[in-house]
Amino acid sequence: MSYTWEPRWEKFKVESHGIVFWTCRDRITGMIACPICVDARQACLGGGQGEGSNPIFFYTVDDLIYHLKEFHARNAFRGKGK
Ligand SMILES: [Zn+2]
Repeated sequence: MSYTWEPRWEKFKVESHGIVFWTCRDRITGMIACPICVDARQACLGGGQGEGSNPIFFYTVDDLIYHLKEFHARNAFRGKGK
C-alpha cells in the first residue's frame, strides 16, 4: 500500500491550562493530533502504527484543548448522565 502522506509520530506532552497529557505530534508538519481521534495509544504511545481512521490535526495546543472540550467532553456528557 502506498500513502501520499505518512505521519511520523512522536510523543508530545501537552501542558496547558492546568491540563497535562500526552498525545502524538507529526514530526514533519509539527501538527498535533487529537489523542482521542487518532487513538494515541495505538498511534504513537504504544509504538504501533496507528492507522487512525480519521486523525484530526491542530496547529496549536489551544486549538486541541478547544476541540477536546467542545467535541469530546460534550459527547462524553451526552447520554451518559441522567
Ligand atoms: Zn478529537
